[in-house]
Amino acid sequence: MDTKTLHPQITAAYRVLETGEPISRAEAALLADLPGELALDLAALANKVKNRYASGTESLHTCSIMNAKSGVCGENCKFCAQSRHNRADIEVYDLVDEESVLIEARNCITEGVSHFGIVTSGYGYKKITPEFQRVLAMIERLHADLPDLHVCASLGILGEEPAAALAAQGIAHYNINIQVAPDRYHDLIADTHTVEDRIKTIKLLRKNNISVCCGGIMGVGESMQDRIDMIFTLQELDVSVIPLNVLVPINGTPLEGSEPVSVADIVKTFAICRLAHPDKIIKFAAGRETIMKDFQGLLMLSGANGYLTGGYLTTRGRDVADDRRFASQIASFN
Ligand code: SF4
Repeated sequence: MDTKTLHPQITAAYRVLETGEPISRAEAALLADLPGELALDLAALANKVKNRYASGTESLHTCSIMNAKSGVCGENCKFCAQSRHNRADIEVYDLVDEESVLIEARNCITEGVSHFGIVTSGYGYKKITPEFQRVLAMIERLHADLPDLHVCASLGILGEEPAAALAAQGIAHYNINIQVAPDRYHDLIADTHTVEDRIKTIKLLRKNNISVCCGGIMGVGESMQDRIDMIFTLQELDVSVIPLNVLVPINGTPLEGSEPVSVADIVKTFAICRLAHPDKIIKFAAGRETIMKDFQGLLMLSGANGYLTGGYLTTRGRDVADDRRFASQIASFN
């Protein structure tokens, strides 16, 4: 590529392609200001960076999650249907039994999905409780019965003992999102817990050599600069997998009726995230089908190399088989 033909603001992206060295915060801020007509040039470069540095052994990371315990959460995350503080109409249930988890996990294997995450609603586990022990037993059973499946967990904020117990189980990734720039968490997400609690958990996971899946959500009132701050916080935290969600506004939550973020801004966010994390897994999670609709393919060509498939915690996603066909079309661009 002749760099003379590149818009000066995009040269930083080209340098990442050449060297594999991530962009700086200042360069990210310049890219965030690109006019919409250049967003596709940026996306194309981010896609090339992904192909060159993030293809690894797994060209497309796929995962499915199971909501193993739903609702009645005492936290007040504004986007979440499971918060007791919100009035969303959802199914509520205690921790499911081991057999139900096994059935869902087997479906994952049949559908060719490589990662399966057990998710529970609630603050988390500061100590090893009987409920936490049941989750550990589920993970152990999945490892024993389905050795090819990568088992992940998303159980909220953790204390020392639960983190060590999960490490002993050898989970593939632990998901805990910081959601937004840390200094915006209190205003945009929740005030019943702090982002520092989440960051402390991430450091604890890293101390226990657990690979961390951590990302955020767009469309909750954050600015482009806030997104950049989140992206670079993830770099400091050395996370392995970055799930990016687009808000699906749910009736009965404070974010019901929120204005959607523009597709051009979401494309730029995915591309900037890729340029700041050239070799990481960047996964398109909630909002892919329901909010992005016609544009989800474009997002998958803006630097993402993974997606969450088969439904979310309280909203439906796309059929796994449809997603498989979608993935094979995306592969033709790589
Ligand atoms: S995101 Fe998690 S912690 Fe926050 S309200 Fe929902 S279930 Fe509770």
